[in-house]
Amino acid sequence: MNTIIETKVKTYKNYINGEWIVASTNQVDASINPANKEEIVGYVQKSGKEDLDQAVAAAKEAQVSWRKLSGSARGEYLYKIANVVERRIDEIAESMTKEMGKTLPESKGETARGIAILRYYAGEGMRKIGDVIPSSDSEALMFTSRVPLGVVGLITPWNFPAAIPIWKIAPALIYGNTVVFKPAQDAAVTAAKIAECFEEAGLPAGVLNFVTGSGSVIGQGIIDHPGINGISFTGSDQVGKLVAQGAVARGAKYQLEMGGKNPVIIANDADLDQAVEATINGGLRSTGQKCTATSRVIVQSEVYEEFKAKLLEKVKEIKVGHGLQGETWMGPCASENQLQTVLSYIEKGIAEGATLLHGGKRIEANGLEHGFFVEPTVFENVNSKMSIAQEEIFGPVLAFIKVDTIEQALEIANDVQYGLSASIFTKDIGNMLSFINEMDAGLVRINAESAGVELQAPFGGMKQSSSGSREQGQAAIEFFTAIKTVFVKA
Ligand code: NAP
Ligand code: MG
Repeated sequence: MNTIIETKVKTYKNYINGEWIVASTNQVDASINPANKEEIVGYVQKSGKEDLDQAVAAAKEAQVSWRKLSGSARGEYLYKIANVVERRIDEIAESMTKEMGKTLPESKGETARGIAILRYYAGEGMRKIGDVIPSSDSEALMFTSRVPLGVVGLITPWNFPAAIPIWKIAPALIYGNTVVFKPAQDAAVTAAKIAECFEEAGLPAGVLNFVTGSGSVIGQGIIDHPGINGISFTGSDQVGKLVAQGAVARGAKYQLEMGGKNPVIIANDADLDQAVEATINGGLRSTGQKCTATSRVIVQSEVYEEFKAKLLEKVKEIKVGHGLQGETWMGPCASENQLQTVLSYIEKGIAEGATLLHGGKRIEANGLEHGFFVEPTVFENVNSKMSIAQEEIFGPVLAFIKVDTIEQALEIANDVQYGLSASIFTKDIGNMLSFINEMDAGLVRINAESAGVELQAPFGGMKQSSSGSREQGQAAIEFFTAIKTVFVKA
């Protein structure tokens, strides 16, 4: 029997109306370390509907004075929060690695990204929120202004437990909304530490409320709650559809960012070393658990064998292990569930006739038997009809597809329901322009990996990857505010 490591395990509470409180249900969930399932990272509240009601009521009350503050005054809070997160970066990053498995440098990078996002939106508090529009009445003044939605509900996934919550909370707050935040239960300890930073920075009570619990209770509760004016969701397309249906049914504003099945195209004239590096980083960093991860590798026939050989050589060197250990390049899958999903797609790939070139198995040797580790996996002879070419795997699996022309490459690249990000490696301006014009994806990247994102630019997908709205950068104002058209006459 394995003994559960229970020393110094902390229980994290909900943060509602400026107080840390235990859920009305008196139940908790254990958040476990996917590198060692016997280690409990912390306990988090398994809240009920009553707790959510309390959080919504607190957010509604706090709205009254929060929206009256100037943008720059709200920005001051965000600068302070950024400083607290910066002071606690090592602790937050360590908890992220322990809770969902990504390597410590990845966790630190993500937390640093969160700090930069907070500072970016702090500045947004002083930028323009409207236009003067000439009225047909020469004596009148007509202009637009932006007003907050009111109370917004934010539902986030486990794969970026700091950055995604922050890229929703920061714009929500700067534009005058108050927040009810429900993180993924599998990464709620890290999210609790983020919420602590908001408290530590002195944010007024009720402006940010943090409620943990299952998606079916607290997530669904946010969708259905009449006190919540807008819902911003990142996660799977299955749950995203529920958010949209529920929001439409009661007339709430919603925003969805969902899955991807992101291609990289390697053209005959590509710099192959650059393309190998970007394909490996884009596809296998964070154990392939990024919505923007490279999943389909579409290679032109002239360079196919050379590219494949170079890539396999590098993949063989990848060191899989505990994210806290310095030499580790790739950590475990984030949960048992995730591991099983990845293994079942590998089986499907083989059953449907793809050729396994590398990996494909769970890793249980060298002390990794208690974690959810899987080998970095590469398939070839993949065609567009196969499950591994169509469905989001969310794991370290690359599927090679050989093509003759760039036209074929683009056709295959677009032959999926998703459209989040895509990249091409080429030196030819004609290839680049075809790719820019014809690739149906919200992020198109040339000679760069599919998973790169900059916080000051709009982020989001096309087709089934998104509800069509955008997050990050100045685009965030579109979701988190409503436009008011003002007409003034003496
Ligand atoms: P998920 O299962 O859809 O969960 C996302 C969030 O929704 C979690 O907080 C979850 O809560 C909650 N939820 C679950 N069932 C719900 C319901 N019935 N009603 C309301 N909320 C509910 O996704 P995930 O497995 O955490 O994350 C992986 C997915 O996120 C992938 O598809 C990935 O592509 C996508 N993703 C997209 C982006 C993007 O920006 N496009 C970024 C990152 C990830 P619990 O888990 O606590 O139950
Ligand atoms: Mg976990």
